[in-house]
Amino acid sequence: MEEEAEPNFSAFPFKPYSIQTDFMKSLYSFLNKGGIGMFESPTGTGKTLSIICSALQWVVDRKEAVNSRVLDDNIQKEDQCVSSDIDEPDWMKDFVLDKTEDKKKNKGKKLGYEKKNACRDLLARSNDNEGVEMGEKVKKKKVELSEEEEFLVEEYESDGGDGVRLKRKATGDNSSSDDDDEEEDGLNEEEEEEDFKVYFCSRTHSQLSQFIKELRRTVFATKLNVVSLGSRKNMCINKEVLKLNSSARINEKCLELQKNKNSRVSKVKVQADGGRIRRTKASAGCPMLRKHKLQKEFKIEASEHDALDIEDLVHLGNKIGTCPYYGSRKMTPAANLVVLPYQSLLFKSARESLGLKLKNSVIIIDEAHNLADSLTSMYDSRISFSQLEKVHRQLELYFERFRNLLGAGNRRYIQTMMVLTRAFLKVLLGDKDSGSLTLGEKSSEQKAASDSSMAINDFLFLLDIDNINLVKLHHYIKESNVVHKVSGYGAKRVSLEKGAAILDDSVNVVEGSMLSGFQAFVSILLSLTNNDGDGRIIISRRRHLNSVQKEDGYLKYVMLAGEKIFSEIAEQAHAIVLAGGTLQPIEETRERLFPWLLPDKLHFFSCGHIVPPESILPIAVSHGPSSKSFDFSYSSRTSPNMIEELGRLLCNLTTVVPEGIVVFFSSYEYEAQVHDAWKSSGTLTRIMKKKRLFREPRSNIDVDAFLREYKETVLSLSGNHTKEHPVSQNGAMLLAVVGGKISEGINFSDGMGRCVVMVGLPYPSPSDVELLERVKHIEGLGYPNTIEMAKLGVSNKLYNGDAAQAGFSVLKGCNRRGREYYENLCMKAVNQSIGRVIRHANDYAAILLVDSRYTSNISQMSFSHPANKLPKWIKDQLVSSTQNYGEVHRKLHQFFKFNKGRCNQ
Ligand code: SF4
Repeated sequence: MEEEAEPNFSAFPFKPYSIQTDFMKSLYSFLNKGGIGMFESPTGTGKTLSIICSALQWVVDRKEAVNSRVLDDNIQKEDQCVSSDIDEPDWMKDFVLDKTEDKKKNKGKKLGYEKKNACRDLLARSNDNEGVEMGEKVKKKKVELSEEEEFLVEEYESDGGDGVRLKRKATGDNSSSDDDDEEEDGLNEEEEEEDFKVYFCSRTHSQLSQFIKELRRTVFATKLNVVSLGSRKNMCINKEVLKLNSSARINEKCLELQKNKNSRVSKVKVQADGGRIRRTKASAGCPMLRKHKLQKEFKIEASEHDALDIEDLVHLGNKIGTCPYYGSRKMTPAANLVVLPYQSLLFKSARESLGLKLKNSVIIIDEAHNLADSLTSMYDSRISFSQLEKVHRQLELYFERFRNLLGAGNRRYIQTMMVLTRAFLKVLLGDKDSGSLTLGEKSSEQKAASDSSMAINDFLFLLDIDNINLVKLHHYIKESNVVHKVSGYGAKRVSLEKGAAILDDSVNVVEGSMLSGFQAFVSILLSLTNNDGDGRIIISRRRHLNSVQKEDGYLKYVMLAGEKIFSEIAEQAHAIVLAGGTLQPIEETRERLFPWLLPDKLHFFSCGHIVPPESILPIAVSHGPSSKSFDFSYSSRTSPNMIEELGRLLCNLTTVVPEGIVVFFSSYEYEAQVHDAWKSSGTLTRIMKKKRLFREPRSNIDVDAFLREYKETVLSLSGNHTKEHPVSQNGAMLLAVVGGKISEGINFSDGMGRCVVMVGLPYPSPSDVELLERVKHIEGLGYPNTIEMAKLGVSNKLYNGDAAQAGFSVLKGCNRRGREYYENLCMKAVNQSIGRVIRHANDYAAILLVDSRYTSNISQMSFSHPANKLPKWIKDQLVSSTQNYGEVHRKLHQFFKFNKGRCNQ
């Protein structure tokens, strides 16, 4: 094997710190081998740049190596070529074999990442042939179609064989509502797929934009083909479609437009004698895709720029007048680097719809600290009681109106859908034995509601629907367009009944809400086709809050089998990189996502922080100023004594901490309770004498504007006050919530966060049924069957009644994994929150962990102790116990005095 050359990281825009060089070397060497690697580097340490400059350098080097190898191979005979490869790494063998087998790919391209201005003009297809392939033209006598009959589902017949495939009668309409089938005239030409492709994904569009900004600081922005992908909601430029506002509805509408363009709208007319005619009407599709040459122009112009983010692509699309969503999709095959949100890569149907090829690729998943839960939640589905009621009602009305016009197949399927909605409603009403159902009738008889959980098969048996072929039904729904027909008819009826003018907009709004109910129904059906053990069904019955108000019930499928989802990706990719500020506990992630990989085969890299130790002061604060021990466990956190002692602590902090203090509470409810208590006791007034107070709002607000105001306040109140202009307030205090709007992804650098206070340990509620299902599943990982689970005392039965009690007994019954998962959830949330401060090399901040449970004698600290789950760079500096609050105050005073002096030098 060739000796590994020392990689060159000259693309790094400045001289890297040693931890950055170590990171890049480790990632580069890992990519040579491939597999699964976890790379941990605290926020503010230049992780993104390190990823870019090592992973993309690796791509460039590999392409050069492979291309020079291909040139050599062309000189040799093919058999010699193959036999000479036996010592090469797998990635080299795969690529060289591919190259020699496919002559078309040996076109003498140098590196393959030159800008390709001369893309093929497959988009400029003539419109002359439009309509030729659209099916037979109807030449029968014309009969006027009534308005309602446009909603008639076209005739379908099952092939009667395997019961899965459906045949459309010869109508010439091959459209489908499914994403997988979406195609665009002239937009589905094949591009040559880049062999060396890197997919970089992160959670949010703003994180992806930040990545593109960092990329532009390097030569790779111009050297490689880069494309950003986003959702239709973020990229659509059709104003009419954007008005729909929800992602699902925008997707649906866009697909509908594409379908109409491909197939024309086909209407069925039933004549007086019972015969039918079909009328095909031309439809324009989306105007933003009408001119193929504009899509080509978009592609050329986007390729000529350095890496563009979503906003740039939308801007370009608007400028040219063509769809940036489809424009960027078309650029994917030829891209070396694809930048995209989590969902687009990790969710199978989204990935397939985008046509992403993962074979031999490098996949980088950033912000991977909660990957297992994020991944499984993409496969969850949920439908509420009120959505089910509407779907059921619409199916009934539709069936009533069209039963005599529908073919036998359609009738049967629609009736089956009604059987299912009826069964779902009954189970949510807690009335599975009722012989008949009149919607709404049972609501007054509801007993105290309770949540239950069960496996798919138990659920199907309980509802007596185990004899229904859900796979076949799902195919029918997907192929027949029945959902649009029924919701379209329903919307029309509603607007007529209301006597409203039949404006397109009003019909659209009603139809959209019906459509989202049907989509939820279809998602639940699809979930029920999963394997029995892959997930659980949660039944949350309607609750009567009082004589008037009731809380909507719901059915939810919770996906648990993360390893199955992850294996589909891991099987294809050359390497998967999980990156994040803190990725602990890595063993939990391994067990949940890639249990087949032995711990010693997992590549793990972790580096310290670039800030010097004297810039961080983490303290476990066990006692308050009046020597009361802090205990924010569930049973004692609401005690007035505890709340007032916390108030005294914060009042003291306002005197010693300059600029901004961010205080994290475990929930909005607790924050409100503490705030109200402080208001009554006068504590709030004392705090506000020194700091302006901000509270994280619950409602949907403009977080950016809120934070801007906080920042401006900190800056304006933290200036050098003169005798002429004394300002009593010095900075601000922000009361925030763990898991709220600002606990993740927000930057509290410098003065915005000179001190972060974590109040207690934010354990999730044990009464959350979904959480308990995850705990049970994780506890059972590695145990072959439920008998083993039962030995652990973890019940797998349906549980009703006191959910909190059930939760505690499940947790008590766990031996290791399940309990650890529960504890890890808490500490991951803590780490995310306290990681908001210290964002660059010259930053400094104090981190106060306020609860006696954080304190310990470091030498006796058990593995599961909360302090052991802190990031290494914090744990190494942690003052894990103090004699009294006076000691804490003294340390804080010295810390800020030292750092202020250091920064002023
Ligand atoms: S084709 Fe593009 S612009 Fe048109 S509706 Fe779809 S996403 Fe929007």
